[in-house]
Amino acid sequence: MKRSEYLKSFRLRIFIVIVIAALVAASTMRLAAGANIQDRMVEQRIMEMTEQIRVAATRMRNYDFFQNTSSEAINAQLTLLSSVYDGRILVIDRGFRVIADTYDISIGRYMIGEEVIRSFLGENVTNYDKGSRFIEVAVPVTEKDAATGESAVTAVILASSSTDSIYRTTDDIFRRGWIIEIVLLIMMIGVAFGVSSLMARPFERVTKAMGSVVSFEEDLPVVSDYKETQEIVDAFHKLRQRLKTLDESRQEFVSNVSHELKTPIASIKVLADSLNMQEDAPLEMYKDFMQDISNEVDRENEIISDLLELVRMEKGASGMHVKNVTVNELLEQIIKRLGPLARQSEVDLILESRRVVNADMDEVKMTQAITNIIENGIKYNKHPGWVRIVLDADHQYMTITISDSGNGIPEAEISHIFERFYRGDKSHSKEISGTGLGLSITRKTILLHRGSIDVSSVLGEGTTFTVKLPLSYIVEAT
Ligand code: ADP
Repeated sequence: MKRSEYLKSFRLRIFIVIVIAALVAASTMRLAAGANIQDRMVEQRIMEMTEQIRVAATRMRNYDFFQNTSSEAINAQLTLLSSVYDGRILVIDRGFRVIADTYDISIGRYMIGEEVIRSFLGENVTNYDKGSRFIEVAVPVTEKDAATGESAVTAVILASSSTDSIYRTTDDIFRRGWIIEIVLLIMMIGVAFGVSSLMARPFERVTKAMGSVVSFEEDLPVVSDYKETQEIVDAFHKLRQRLKTLDESRQEFVSNVSHELKTPIASIKVLADSLNMQEDAPLEMYKDFMQDISNEVDRENEIISDLLELVRMEKGASGMHVKNVTVNELLEQIIKRLGPLARQSEVDLILESRRVVNADMDEVKMTQAITNIIENGIKYNKHPGWVRIVLDADHQYMTITISDSGNGIPEAEISHIFERFYRGDKSHSKEISGTGLGLSITRKTILLHRGSIDVSSVLGEGTTFTVKLPLSYIVEAT
């Protein structure tokens, strides 16, 4: 398989889609879970710190730490807390003065930060600075006034903590997550490979089944795994039916052609043989038989030229030489040419041109098509009889109506007269010459001009052919 073909493979695409989907899902999950874990750990840290400071504040009150900060026990607790949380603890009295500092650098200094002020107003303030990875907690310490009995904030404990350790932990989790993700990805690649093969299998089955079909009779297996595969199978059956019909009509055509071509030759053979067998055949007989042979040759010729015409017609629109033609003149010429035949058969040809009609057409082909209809009108007529040709048009179409006073066509035959080699009523086909190809050629020509041909007939009264053609020939875009 070429590289570009492999890239087009349905199976490969499904494989890629599954792998990408798994990758996106895993990464999203990891990111979402990671961010969540970090937030939860920070929240946890804030809660813990607040709690621990509250506990320390109670002890401070008991030790009267806010009046005398020399208590070893409290200072040791504060140092321990600050080292546990990897930070610093400041105790600030009511005058905003730092009275204890685990770093021992700000004692005696004033600390009037926003959170300190808010905390002195009774609020428990927490701050988390994500950028510098820093938590700040300010806890107010309330004491009951011995004299009034009212509670008031007497000090604020301000504690800060670095979240580096949290980040270290989550980074570690992430790292481990990566390993899990890679393992998962490898597993997903395996799953994607299996699933894509499984999903592509029905299509492979259809292709294989189609490839192994050798005859029109063979049915494809039902591949109903997907609606699409069943549709492919159904479409294949329809196509096969069309090909079958085409093949049958081709075979029928070939056998008809051979039969039609053989008939005159068989007659010629019989005529020649019977002359040869007669020892002293009189001259008269020779002349007679030779005339018959000549007629048969004419007939063979006629069939061959009709066949050639049909073959030429198969080329479709590409074999058309379209130009603008004055249809009135075209009809007059046809009638002139058919004049001798009509007179011989005592049939009157009447042309009624209702207006001057100019139309785009292949003059030679259309002359042949109309001639065929009029000639039939003369051949299958009473003697004397008439054929009337009426030409009319509107702004888009022209109509040529050809009616005759003949015997008409039986209802059952009408649908067959346009078929190749069809000759109506075998009794008259012997005495009236014809190949059965005329109307088939006519219909093909008219369809190539995107026109239509209709026929109506009353037995014993006559037949009317109506040809409708567009005035302008538009070449179909291919
Ligand atoms: P052909 O005339 O060579 O037999 P056509 O294809 O021209 O072949 O016509 C097919 C058949 O249609 C004819 O054999 C004839 O039976 C019937 N047909 C055609 N035109 C007429 C007509 N005007 N009147 C009666 N029968 C007709």
